[in-house]
Amino acid sequence: MTVKKMDFKTETKQILDLVVHSLYSHKEIFLRELISNASDAIDKAHFQSLTDKEILDDKNPWKIKIEVDKDAGTLTIRDNGIGMTKEDAIRELGTIAHSGTKEFLAAMQSKEVKENPELIGQFGVGFYSSFMVADKVTVISRKAGTKDKKGIKWESTADGSFTIEDVDKEEKGTEITLHLKDEEKKYLEEWEIRSVVKKYSDFIEHPIVMDIEREEEGKIDKSQKVKVKEEETLNARKAIWLKNKSDITEAEYNEFYKHLSHDYTDPAKVVHYKAEGASEFTALFYIPAIRPMDILYKEYKMGLTLYAKRVKIIEHCEALIQPYLRFVKGVVDSSDLPLNVSREMLQNNRQVETMKNSITTKVLGTLNDMKKNDYDKYLKFYHEFGRILKEGIHFDFSKREQIGELLLFPSTKTDKESFRTIEDYVGDMKEGQEDIYYITGTSRDEVLKSPYLEAFNEKGYEVLILLDDIDDIVMGQFEYKGKKFKSVIKGDITLDETKKDEKEKAQKKYGKILKLIQDHLEEDLKEVRLSGRLKDSACCLVADEGEMDPQMEKLLKSMGQDVPTRKRILEINPAHPLFEAMSGIFEKDKKSEVLKEYATLLYDQALLLEGSKPKDTVSFAKAIAKLMVDNAGQNS
Ligand code: ADP
Repeated sequence: MTVKKMDFKTETKQILDLVVHSLYSHKEIFLRELISNASDAIDKAHFQSLTDKEILDDKNPWKIKIEVDKDAGTLTIRDNGIGMTKEDAIRELGTIAHSGTKEFLAAMQSKEVKENPELIGQFGVGFYSSFMVADKVTVISRKAGTKDKKGIKWESTADGSFTIEDVDKEEKGTEITLHLKDEEKKYLEEWEIRSVVKKYSDFIEHPIVMDIEREEEGKIDKSQKVKVKEEETLNARKAIWLKNKSDITEAEYNEFYKHLSHDYTDPAKVVHYKAEGASEFTALFYIPAIRPMDILYKEYKMGLTLYAKRVKIIEHCEALIQPYLRFVKGVVDSSDLPLNVSREMLQNNRQVETMKNSITTKVLGTLNDMKKNDYDKYLKFYHEFGRILKEGIHFDFSKREQIGELLLFPSTKTDKESFRTIEDYVGDMKEGQEDIYYITGTSRDEVLKSPYLEAFNEKGYEVLILLDDIDDIVMGQFEYKGKKFKSVIKGDITLDETKKDEKEKAQKKYGKILKLIQDHLEEDLKEVRLSGRLKDSACCLVADEGEMDPQMEKLLKSMGQDVPTRKRILEINPAHPLFEAMSGIFEKDKKSEVLKEYATLLYDQALLLEGSKPKDTVSFAKAIAKLMVDNAGQNS
């Protein structure tokens, strides 16, 4: 029999190092992770056995057994689940399925994970937590359906490599033996194991058993005590979602959430209901209080766990949840679905579609209630998940108004930490105001200084401040109860019809100057026109309605996308004294070089105001210095 030695992948080594050397608290969660893996393995075997009777190669009922060997100092977790082939073991136990390894490692090293190692379950590296308490781990496994008792043995001391060899194994399934470190021998004690199982794994549906030794009276001589071993089930095995709501305590609900999510904080909200009618099912789901650490990773596993008549069918069933609600965790147990459904079949399944709609409505309703009745809690939720929820405006047409009502915005009329809803905004709209105005940006303080807001402020129109990267795409196309969302930095805006005459006069007066600026900056600008949105500032740049806003353009460019550069519109404030002065120069010398310099400077200023850089920073600095010298000459 050959023993093959293999090296772990670099990132696996790093993870193992972290687990061994820096996770100190809550070490007992290793047992929860191993039991959870065993239970998943049984679910998979059970599910497969529904169509393939060969999987049931032994008569033993599904179970997870914990065995203790005090002399050897080992703890073994044994299951009769799906098992692993050699390839499975090398792949599943030797590598990490994660693309963003760097961020992942950083997250793993965070204070949060150090203080709450149960979080590592979220990253799909639960198995490695065994190395928190063991200096050697041995895995013996036989894949269900494999003939001739052929199994494999995987072993590692977390020193950078593992060994793998063929062994015989009587039954299908996996046994994982931990050679406990001297200081972790307490996990050989019955009471310790009992309490950890009770704490973390009470909800596991398969029995978690252990041989318990008891003393009994002797049969012949009653005064003689004899020791007998009895198998005892340690977990309550409650499918909590099938119980009556009134029989479940808040603590139980919360524990189940932690079991499902690998989160260590209590959820913000629990929703538990039974649907009857077209589709019969029970749903128990949770709205988390804090964002899971992995939700931004590509590998984030969204979806609810799907059961059909109490049999676990799919762990992360994406078809049950809208992607913009991907933070929701929970289970759904259907009475109608056949047991042999596959992931593919679920994609266009009517029952599943009905369940998904029902769940979407329930989640949105719950959030709305929370917003109305428990605003502080809702605010916390919104800080964590608002950006994700907002995607729904774009992707779920039928629910967009409902989602819109859940959004919170800072605005030009709120204090620093308070927010407005769209309903608030619409309720307070000024007479004659048709549209909902917004401005995009990266911080509230910066946005508030923006020249684009001048006319709106003067007029008393409120402007919503949108700070999320996706805002322009999502909100730009949104219409709430017939009211359009309009960006204040796009399109030609005239807020005051009465000022139309003034504008026409100004147009006559400055027409030639506008033309001169336009000719000079033809390469960069599509148009130079008088502005209806400026009051104090001299000029600003705007995009046409329907075009991308500069914020978005920058975001896409930073993501490496090829964004075509579009010419913009320069708007000039006719009320600014600068143009009176420029007119004066123009009257004297129609070809004045000074006017061209001014035109360039105006454009550079406008670029700065929108948060971009002047076209040529060196020339810009030189021109400013020259102006200062000229001015100093006049003043001295
Ligand atoms: P996760 O369970 O989140 O995928 P783990 O590190 O805990 O991450 O486990 C890695 C993989 O190893 C599992 O996905 C599974 O394929 C395999 N595995 C672990 N334990 C068992 C077991 N008891 N039986 C069968 N496969 C297992």
